[in-house]
Amino acid sequence: MNDWPRIVVHADMDAFYAAVEQLDDPGLRGKPVLVGPKSARGVVLTASYEARPYGVSSAMPVGEALRRCPQAIIVGPRFDRYQEISSRVMDTLGDFSPRVEALSMDEAFVDMTGADRLFGTPGEMGLKIKQAVREATRLDISVGVASTKYVAKVASDHDKPDGLTVVPADQARAWLAPLPVSRLWGAGRKTVPRLHALGLSTIGDVATADPVVLRRLGSLGAHFHALANARDPRPVQRTRVAKSIGSDRTLVADVQTRDDIELHLRRAADRIGRRLRAKRYVASGVRVRLKTHRFRMLTRQRKLRRPVDLGVELLVAGRSLLDEFADPGPFRLVGMAAFDLVAREGDRQLDLFEDHAARELETTVDELLQRFGRGVLMRARDLAGSGTVANDGVNLDYLDDRDDEARQAGR
Ligand SMILES: [Mg+2]
Repeated sequence: MNDWPRIVVHADMDAFYAAVEQLDDPGLRGKPVLVGPKSARGVVLTASYEARPYGVSSAMPVGEALRRCPQAIIVGPRFDRYQEISSRVMDTLGDFSPRVEALSMDEAFVDMTGADRLFGTPGEMGLKIKQAVREATRLDISVGVASTKYVAKVASDHDKPDGLTVVPADQARAWLAPLPVSRLWGAGRKTVPRLHALGLSTIGDVATADPVVLRRLGSLGAHFHALANARDPRPVQRTRVAKSIGSDRTLVADVQTRDDIELHLRRAADRIGRRLRAKRYVASGVRVRLKTHRFRMLTRQRKLRRPVDLGVELLVAGRSLLDEFADPGPFRLVGMAAFDLVAREGDRQLDLFEDHAARELETTVDELLQRFGRGVLMRARDLAGSGTVANDGVNLDYLDDRDDEARQAGR
């Protein structure tokens, strides 16, 4: 995709607080809802789309909003609930890329550069993100896909609600040109009249303006000129980082032989590898957990010489850790986790040392699972092994199947 130097998604929930209230209370659906304090002097935090045709918008005093739309229902905000759904949204976005920059509870940038092999064209990426958020929250999100943060953000707002707007890099300048200057980042109530006074009313006017004219706006002039020409090199800054990705199995029958333990370890390694690759992480540490039949949890871990994302490499590390457990078992839980995760920089980063055939095999499996879903494939040895395998490919020989991800906030 040569015409996409970067793929930046901006995702923005539609009328977020109001949509959550309508989700939780079916009686509010299809009605004008204002989330805000029940005081005429407070301001509207979010107006549902049903209220917007009346000229009601966020930041408007509640009294004014009610004059414009007397039938509106005012609901007090429930920030804990919004935060809960926000986490679900951000987790979902994190399934598409490790590079997610949350701007607020309901809005984030996602850097999808290099993810076309897993998620398809930029348009297909946007569609998949929308579907995934809808599945996770039953709420709508608008998505803009572009090659810069600025264009992506303008694009997500272009077709709200439930919008999807894709602006390829080579069309960005022309796409921005007819939009009003108020859509420039940093052009607020004070600056827009100044732009108008200089004879600049559209973004296209700013893009082609005489630099001498723009200089009258001080440093903002150069900033606007760059945005108007779709130049915005700022990277997506990660605000959420997974700390570890793990997979634990609590087994129906305790295991004791090395072969049986390794069988479960290998499944865990495959699953963790798949999730590392989907999120484009590499791991520099591996941890194995065994729980004895007396419920003692034993853990061994090691740092790796180089970061990895293949199941087979995780398994090699996990196997060597098995040698370090003194307890002979039997064990009722076998688990593994990959830790010290960092975003994978590029496709060539891992190529030097690794087993190319293994990568080929594992990424082929990724693509099949992506296309046909779970249960389409399993290793022949899983079928022949001690586990019970149901027809749909779901393995039934464990009680508790937990794939988890520990997260840390902050950059
Ligand atoms: Mg929003």
